[in-house]
Amino acid sequence: RLHNTIQELKGNIRVFCRVRPLVAGGLSQHIQLSGSDNSITLAKTDESHTGKMTDVQKNYTFSFDRVFGPQASQQEIFEEMSLLIQSALDGYNVCCFAYGQTGSGKTYTMQGDEVETRKGVIPRSVQQLFKAADKLAAQGWEFTFTASFIEVYNETLRDLLLHTGKCAKKPDLEIKTTNNEVIITNLTYKKVSAEDQVLGLMALASQNRSTAQTAQNDRSSRSHSVFQLAIEGVNVGRDVKYKSTLCLVDLAGSERMVKSQSQGERFKEMTAINSSLSNLGIVITALANKESYIPYRNSKLTYLLQGCLGGNSKTLMFVNIAPEPHSFAESLNSLRFASKVN
Ligand code: ADP
Ligand code: MG
Repeated sequence: RLHNTIQELKGNIRVFCRVRPLVAGGLSQHIQLSGSDNSITLAKTDESHTGKMTDVQKNYTFSFDRVFGPQASQQEIFEEMSLLIQSALDGYNVCCFAYGQTGSGKTYTMQGDEVETRKGVIPRSVQQLFKAADKLAAQGWEFTFTASFIEVYNETLRDLLLHTGKCAKKPDLEIKTTNNEVIITNLTYKKVSAEDQVLGLMALASQNRSTAQTAQNDRSSRSHSVFQLAIEGVNVGRDVKYKSTLCLVDLAGSERMVKSQSQGERFKEMTAINSSLSNLGIVITALANKESYIPYRNSKLTYLLQGCLGGNSKTLMFVNIAPEPHSFAESLNSLRFASKVN
């Protein structure tokens, strides 16, 4: 509860920066992290072209709620957000995004892999919620959890929980608003109550994503994947009932493609990604500023998330950073984007 109060004082949007290790481990010299765990500095050394031997160094420093270095474990990161996840059981809508260029660690952060210590935010979140719900049962609470998994690619939605082979034949999902509620037609919903079931759904979803990928090289880095857990809590004795949603989103790679290289399909993809990521930034900023008009419907991603982004929702954005020197420009772009929404 203490953390929830702190968060209320700070507003409902938090940003965590996470720098993945170099393949060989550790960090490269152009990135410095502050000892206080909340700022990151990118240092760019420009070779002077004037013939003089002087180097011009430029530093770019950004502060966030937390900055995690390459040694931060999946568990350590989850501990920092576990109260946020917990608040989904208190009736808050919770959204967590991973933003960053391809290869920066978004999927590792959100999903992780099969090794127990490398499990990511999705399995850790459901594990925590299921455990907490079990404890609350003694006080008369009964929770129902319903999962769905959607891919947003080129402004179309695809159900990732259909069994392989069926995905192609199904019509695209459609989003509608009925009685002020966002509804997705034809979507698969699965009731879940154990972590293993969710791991099974994650495996099915990645299988579905990679099937599309063989036909279309590296599609997954150019689409958003949205895991949603609808939570319903009922306490008959106290006559209370509420609904909330937890959304965990692995965003499309934020890298800018060179215009001359992007023609046809690639150009369409680039335009769709740029506009949906920038609209996401606009929506989050508008919510933070409590603006009266929030442009949810300017992109499929925000339209889809409308139910869990507005109102009493709590939002956490990870900005994932690749440490290699050649990623400097993309890292700077990502940090600038994240500091705009923070
Ligand atoms: P993205 O989803 O942003 O494209 P990935 O999550 O696939 O990036 O990460 C790229 C590679 O780096 C993967 O092999 C992943 O396992 C590894 N990786 C990412 N973050 C970490 C980390 N914090 N510690 C160890 N390995 C990581
Ligand atoms: Mg990925």
